[in-house]
Amino acid sequence: MDSNIQRQEKISLIVPCYNEQESLPLFYREVLSVLNEMACDYELIFVNDGSKDGTLSILKEFAKENPRVCYLSFSRNFGKESAMYAGFCNADGDYVSVMDADMQDPPSLLPEMLSILKSGNYDSVASRRVSRTGEPALRSWLARKFYRIINRISDAEIIDGARDFRLMKREMADAVVQMGEYNRFSKGIFGWVGFRTYWMPYENVERAAGETKWSFWKLFCYAIDGIINFSHAPLHISSWCGMGMTFLSLFLLLAIVIRRLCFGDPVAGWASLICVILFLGGVQLFSIGIMGQYIAKMYLESKHRPHYIISETNQEKAKKIF
Ligand code: UDP
Ligand code: MG
Repeated sequence: MDSNIQRQEKISLIVPCYNEQESLPLFYREVLSVLNEMACDYELIFVNDGSKDGTLSILKEFAKENPRVCYLSFSRNFGKESAMYAGFCNADGDYVSVMDADMQDPPSLLPEMLSILKSGNYDSVASRRVSRTGEPALRSWLARKFYRIINRISDAEIIDGARDFRLMKREMADAVVQMGEYNRFSKGIFGWVGFRTYWMPYENVERAAGETKWSFWKLFCYAIDGIINFSHAPLHISSWCGMGMTFLSLFLLLAIVIRRLCFGDPVAGWASLICVILFLGGVQLFSIGIMGQYIAKMYLESKHRPHYIISETNQEKAKKIF
């Protein structure tokens, strides 16, 4: 064989899909037109996260007409984090990218991302929304607060407006696969593994079709998960609270004894006493609750349950349970 012929580099695109039958055809057409323009090989890894609509049959159609399409279909809905992890475990490209199926992560950014990686100065190019148009005001406000808090208390850098959409080199993708924790928070994981990351700003794009899968409550729990997974600050806060309360109560006790001795003034009022007892009871329960959150996470981690179970795929070699 001619040794001058260079092997074409390959991009693996991971696309988690949950009830995306409306957006998938649009996404597929758009992403193919971008990939065909790029001078490299590709594989499209669609992960069907237990969809209840026609997503799987659409994916099978794609796979039938295009040998570069791979689909991994979960036995139930495991969540976007598990879907992304399944993609990472089964991607073998030189570059790996994660994209939403709803075109909120514009495929047209891919060529520029690739050329930045090829320039050699960066290991990953991540997208960052500079606006949040189309999002409810309260949700945007809470999201901003969340990023401020988590960056203050966690050692992983988590950028405000960061999306999961990024293109990374093989080395970084391998590191992400190595992070095999059960409670996954990808934005934190990407920050934690490090590597040189270029942040590419872009204007927010609204969903092409279908509806967001994140209810307000789901997002709130995801944010709390992120904090617990990447910071011990809540535990520290409850310890400091406990210590503060102890000192305060000692001080108050001393004040009451002195008042009794000097002025012979008996302390009146059970109402204030009840308030103090309730307050302390509240703080204690709150602290136990925080501790419980960490213990619950430890409990789940220690069971070593698989992240996902694949019930159907067109890839013989796919890691079916992982
Ligand atoms: N998704 C998934 N499993 C889920 C929820 C969402 O695979 O349980 C996928 C979804 O199909 C989409 C991506 O994750 O491709 C992002 O979801 P969505 O667009 O609903 O989130 P948003 O962009 O509103 O944050
Ligand atoms: Mg979306």
